[in-house]
This record gives sequence, structure tokens and C-alpha cells, in this order.
Amino acid sequence: MTVTLPPGEARYFDAERETMPRDRLAELQWELLTETLAFAYERAPLVRSLWEAAGCRPEDLGGIADFVARAPTFDKDALRAWRAGHGDPFGGVCGVPVGELNAVTSTSGTTGEPTLVPERWGQGTVGPPAVMYRDLWEVGVRPGDHVSLFLFTFRGPVFAFVQQLGAVPVCFDHDATEIERLLRCSAELAPTALYNFGGPMLRATAEVAAARGLDPASMLGSYRGVVAAGEPLGPRARRLADAWGLEIFEHSGVGDVTGCFECREHAGMHVWEDTVLVEGFDPDTGRPCDPAADHLERVELVATALVNRVAPLVRFRSGDLVDLDRRPCACGRTHARIRTLGRLGDEVVVDGRSVLPGELWGAIEAIEACRLGCFQVIRPRRELDVLRLRVGYRDTPPGRLEALRDEVAAAVVAVVGLVPEVELVPDTQLLRLGPPHKIPRVVPA
Ligand SMILES: [Zn+2]
Repeated sequence: MTVTLPPGEARYFDAERETMPRDRLAELQWELLTETLAFAYERAPLVRSLWEAAGCRPEDLGGIADFVARAPTFDKDALRAWRAGHGDPFGGVCGVPVGELNAVTSTSGTTGEPTLVPERWGQGTVGPPAVMYRDLWEVGVRPGDHVSLFLFTFRGPVFAFVQQLGAVPVCFDHDATEIERLLRCSAELAPTALYNFGGPMLRATAEVAAARGLDPASMLGSYRGVVAAGEPLGPRARRLADAWGLEIFEHSGVGDVTGCFECREHAGMHVWEDTVLVEGFDPDTGRPCDPAADHLERVELVATALVNRVAPLVRFRSGDLVDLDRRPCACGRTHARIRTLGRLGDEVVVDGRSVLPGELWGAIEAIEACRLGCFQVIRPRRELDVLRLRVGYRDTPPGRLEALRDEVAAAVVAVVGLVPEVELVPDTQLLRLGPPHKIPRVVPA
């Protein structure tokens, strides 16, 4: 696939698509959805079986409103069940013969068995280049630049996106032992973007720099942007990035269909709606919200691939609780923005007070001994009598643990008004649970 690049001074990678009026975008979505549904119904066995059970055929639908009213949904459990029941590693959603794939990547598996992602790099999507191209352009990647890649399970395609932008990938493993090499290579090659370097790596950089007497602010001074994925950045990592002059662009997944990135406004992550149809479902009723809503809503994110011709997910319920905002962004783009709040299954309700792990983060990592922000909410069920937390610590002698426990409890009371039961464990024990860039934040026991 050859990619035509805009002039280097262009603000947008694809001005026409990125700033398309929303009524035109809706027409384009319906055209793309019609093609996707025909493809998925024909080629993806899980999708076909769901639609047959619902008594619905793609050609019965007259528009997006019909789709919202009638199309069946499915979730990750349905994928896993199909995978186990049919001996199909791709969960019944791979739309091409396995021999025609040219890569298999996987999700990180924070909440269970990693999901395998079939790829047909270069021929897997229809339409103009979108995710990664538009986003890395916005971060500031230009032809001739070096771009540092700090990658794990999905390294293949990312490498090629950078090359197609005319830039040169500089590769590292996503591992704290690579940080010193990253610092030294960054000082020498002056790359302009760093992908993917989130909270745990920023915090680890502070430790490596202190131990080796290195100065991250000057060694990382060439970066126009640092992309951070995996989980939202806590306040401590944010302060480190600020102190080193790094502009962080948060990046996340959109229901296993595609990715989304912040623009330079940092007011939510843009979802390219000419590649994915995003819907919001009411978290209390589980029913779809109005797809034409032009205000911010707190919803479960549901995604349908519009251009993917390998794994055409149709109405995949992500289980992600997000703020979905379809109002225009100050950057001039018309595509929706989301902010990730947590997993729907992560919420606990204690004394009628809903608590998500993200609310506790800043309070816990502000305590010096808990500065890695390693903690878990114990959630045997959604409704609880007491908030139970497992919190990681370091550099604390046994005689100080009781006082540390009180300090953590007081910090939690200050943010959510609930007195928690706190179990302290060494950081190293919690970090072993990671895949490795994040740990499970909510566990049943
Ligand atoms: Zn924007």
C-alpha cells in the first residue's frame, strides 16, 4: 500500500475526512456499514449465527436507525465461547481464510485470556489511511524523522505505519530494562515521537535516571509528543512528564475494533468515525442511547468496524465505560471523542456510592511508599458492605506498616468518603501480575 502524504506544514493528514460535516459523515457511515454487514454476514460465522438467531438480514435494514433498533450485539464472552466451542482461535469473526492472513497479534490480556487479532497488513481495510497515520501526523511525525517504538504484542503493524509516513522506526522492547538504552539513543538520534510509553515506564524512567545519574529532560528533549496507552496516566506520571517537558498523547482501544488518540487539544481521544461506528449504551438499562446525540454522555462503548475486511466486528459490546462526546473539537475535527473511565465490570457500589479504580489512583500514588500506584480493588460482587483494597508499597520497614495502612485509608476517605479495609503487599508481588504494562485493577479475591 502506497500512502500519499500531505505537505509537511499541513495541520491535518486528511483534511477532507477529518473535518467532514457530521451529516455527510453519517451518510458515509451508512454506505460503509451496508458493505461491512454484507461482508460480515457472508464471511464471519459468529456474526451470521447471531443475525440468524435474531431473524435479521443485512438487506432488511433501511438505515442506521434500523440497525440500532434491530441488529444483535455480542461481547468478549461470546468470542471466547465460540473460540472454545468451535476450535476457532479467532472466535468466529475472522472473515478471510487463515492462510491469507499475514500476521497475528494479540491484546495484552489484562482481563483474561488475550484475544488473538488476525491481520492482513496492507490489504485488510478499505478506504483512505486513518488510524495511526492521522494520529502520528498530529503528534508531529514528518518524513525523515526518527520515531522510537516501545512495543510488545502488537509490534508488527506499528513499525510499518511509521515507515509509510516516511519516518524511521527505532525499536525497543516494552521493558524497563530498555529505558537506559532509550535515553541514550534518544539523545543521539533526536527522534520526534515516542510510542508507547505510559505511566509505569515514566515512573521507571525516574528511577533509572536517578540510579545512573542521567537527565531525562535533556535526553528526551527532541520529542514533539509521547504516546501513552494501556491505562490513563496517573497524576504522578503526569507530573514527571511535565517536569521533563514531554507532551503526552493518550491512546486507547475502541472496542477491539480500532484505536483512538488525543489531538493537541487533549480534550478526549478522537475516534475516526469513517472507520468505526461508535454507539453508546446506557450502563443502567443496557439499551442504546440516541445515536444522533450531540452532547456528552456517560455510556458503555459499542463498536462496529466499517472498513475492516479481516475481522468485521458488528456491534461489539466493549464493557468499557466512557464519556462519549460528539460535539466539534477545538482542533477543527468533527469526529467523536471519548474518555475512558474504566471497565463496566470494575465498578463497585459501597453504601450506595459507586467507585471506579481511577478515582482512587491519585490519592494512593501521592503517598511516597505507594508511588508506583500499584493497587487492586477486591470485588467479589458489585454491591459491597466495605471497600477492600490491596495496595503495593516499597521502602517501608515492618514497624512502619501500620502507620502506612492508616495513611492509605485516610487518603481514600478523602476522595470517596468511604473507610477502606487495606491489605498492604510489596510492589514486586503486584507487578508480577502485569502483562507487563499494567496490572489487573479489579480482582474477585
Ligand atoms: Zn481534537
